[in-house]
Amino acid sequence: MQAAKSLRLAQATNTRPAQALQPTSPGEISAILSNPRRYPAPIRPIGFGSSTTRCLSAPGGTIVDLLKMNRVLRLDRESVTVQPGITIRELAELLAAEGLELFGGFDLANRSVGGAVCGAGLDAAIGSGPTQFAAHVTSLKIVAPDGSRYNVKRDNAPMLGLLRLSYGLLGIVYELTLRVRPIQNFTVQSARVGFKDFINLAPRLARATAATKLYLMPFKDRIFVELRQTACGTKSGKQIAWRFKNWACYSALPSALRSLAKVVPLRSMRYPISDTLSQATQSLLTKGFLRSGSNSLEQTGRFRHPGAGASFAYCTWAFPAATFGRVAAAYQAMCLQHYSKTGFRCDMPAVVFRLNQDRSALLAPNFETPMFTISSLTADQHGWGDFVLDLADFAAKNDGTPFFNQTPGMTTKLAIDRYGRRLAAFRKTRRKLDPNDRLLNQFFASYMI
Ligand SMILES: Cc1cc2nc3c(=O)[nH]c(=O)nc-3n(C[C@H](O)[C@H](O)[C@H](O)COP(=O)(O)OP(=O)(O)OC[C@H]3O[C@@H](n4cnc5c(N)ncnc54)[C@H](O)[C@@H]3O)c2cc1C
Repeated sequence: MQAAKSLRLAQATNTRPAQALQPTSPGEISAILSNPRRYPAPIRPIGFGSSTTRCLSAPGGTIVDLLKMNRVLRLDRESVTVQPGITIRELAELLAAEGLELFGGFDLANRSVGGAVCGAGLDAAIGSGPTQFAAHVTSLKIVAPDGSRYNVKRDNAPMLGLLRLSYGLLGIVYELTLRVRPIQNFTVQSARVGFKDFINLAPRLARATAATKLYLMPFKDRIFVELRQTACGTKSGKQIAWRFKNWACYSALPSALRSLAKVVPLRSMRYPISDTLSQATQSLLTKGFLRSGSNSLEQTGRFRHPGAGASFAYCTWAFPAATFGRVAAAYQAMCLQHYSKTGFRCDMPAVVFRLNQDRSALLAPNFETPMFTISSLTADQHGWGDFVLDLADFAAKNDGTPFFNQTPGMTTKLAIDRYGRRLAAFRKTRRKLDPNDRLLNQFFASYMI
């Protein structure tokens, strides 16, 4: 087993573990978990490391980096069995060569499949199907906290529901089977509205069968709307256009904004320029540039490294879909107020996904009701810390639910309140499976003990 040393690990875990290891087999993971003397707790499994909370931190403990376990083990027309370290992009590329694709419309394809199954995600799903990536897992193989191994199959729905979005607290996943399907094309429709008009549009979007993604620009009073509908017989779209979209949103725009900050340090002069740049990027992407596509097209291609060391900061909250029009307007007001108070504002558009209700995982943020998520993003990070606190305050007042892997600034009390009885049930199983707290770090201890 190799010792893992990389900038990715240092940035993602943000603490000094006693050691970081890269196992290549389930036997090696068992050897780590069953030997507390040699491999001290907390033991934290890590995929790509793009989580933005301290869920991956293991001070004085052991990081288990799974990226070397990245093989495809079996593939047929309906399912694929993989090791957890393969990235969504690598898997999507392999599937595309067979005319197949993953379920779900999410755009950050650099994530590991294991991380996407064990952590909460965002996904603009068409129709009323589940919206967690993990919902499409039909069986899992796990090394338990004591080093023994167990399997969970599709007929054990309660246990599958616990293991999806379990954040590596019930064991380390070393093999998993996901549903796949033949590539399906969708059409993309776009529109733009002001925040006031959006209050009337939001209830319709909450019920729409189209997958819904929005880009909020509070300072331009603009919301860009992107709707996707399944369309048999439509052309699949152009890969170059989808690659351009990924490059523009996750690479070119943040880089341009960072360079701008160096050239124009005065914020009051810089922000209008960054708004114009962001709006121009959105306008280009939504003005008929992307008229059709598929999950396969969106998830293949090259991506930059997101995560703790990413060139932009990121924080997600989820809000009940039924009242989202009002919440979006309140978000605009909060951003304007924060700016007038502190002089800081996010210089990238906030990204919104509509998540259907999803009961496939006990800890799904959208378990009880459909939600809209707001992910605030910024390339300018001076002042981000205070913004995250104001955002948490705003979320608490507006029925916001945090994600354990994507919501820096969430308070323990609020998370316990929002996840309520589901968290209590999860906690009970965790204590049974991990009585010695091998996999528990300080971050999770406040929610799980
Ligand atoms: C800039 C940016 C953009 C983002 N955009 C999106 C987006 O569009 N959609 C979205 O859904 N998310 C997005 N995220 C959030 C992030 O990608 C998710 O949290 C994702 O699930 C993390 O995948 P990962 O491989 O990086 O997992 P990690 O961060 O490495 O791990 C996630 C959790 O799973 C656990 N884990 C990992 N592997 C295993 C395993 N094999 N067994 C048991 N537990 C394991 C870890 O301990 C951790 O608790 C974004 C994040 C950033 C920083």
